[in-house]
This record gives sequence, structure tokens and C-alpha cells, in this order.
Amino acid sequence: MKKLLIVVDYQKDFVNGSLGFKEAEDLDEYLASLIDQYHQNKDDVIFTFDTHQNNYLETQEGKNLPIEHCIKNSDGWELYGKVNTAKKEYDICIEKTTFGSLELGNYLKGKAYSQNMLIL
Ligand SMILES: [Zn+2]
Repeated sequence: MKKLLIVVDYQKDFVNGSLGFKEAEDLDEYLASLIDQYHQNKDDVIFTFDTHQNNYLETQEGKNLPIEHCIKNSDGWELYGKVNTAKKEYDICIEKTTFGSLELGNYLKGKAYSQNMLIL
């Protein structure tokens, strides 16, 4: 049975961008090696992307956290560093406009994995 790795919002804005912090940068090497390992074992990897539009500051989240981040297709929206390099075309990518993700829940419904690992 396959294993599943979910890499949550490891985007530039959360690592070294507008909402970044040093400890997030330190995870890059480890995360990339974990992703490589899952690929080698033909296990599944899902990447989630916090995704906002240009009107972010007018949204509910923008009013609570008035720091622009993860604007779709901006540099800060992209995955960070070695994690970005480790990502393959066939990996599943889920854009989410809020903290939770119905799309991710729906994707996982009815799927069975031997082990799930969630990296926040
Ligand atoms: Zn956000």
C-alpha cells in the first residue's frame, strides 16, 4: 500500500518572503530529501498552495492579517528552494484560498494509504 506525503504551503512567502522565518528555511533540505524518497518509492506527494488574488487585503483573511502573501502567480506564491526543485510534474497540487481545504478532503476521501505524513 502506498504512503502519502502532504507538503503544506511551503511557498516562498511563508519561508523567506513576507511571512517567512528562519526555521522554515532550515527545513528545505530535509523536506526535499523526504520528497525524493517518496518519489523513489512510487508513493504519493501532495503540495498545497495558499492562493490569494490581488484583492487579498479586501478579503476576510486580509482584514485579519493585512500582509500580502501568496498572490497567485507571484514569485512569493511559488514553492521555495530545493522543495520546488524536488517537485515533479505528476505530483498533485491543490490551491487553497482559505486555511482549510475541501478539495484536499475530497481528494483523500476513499483513498487508503499505509501511512500519512503531514508537513506544516
Ligand atoms: Zn493566506
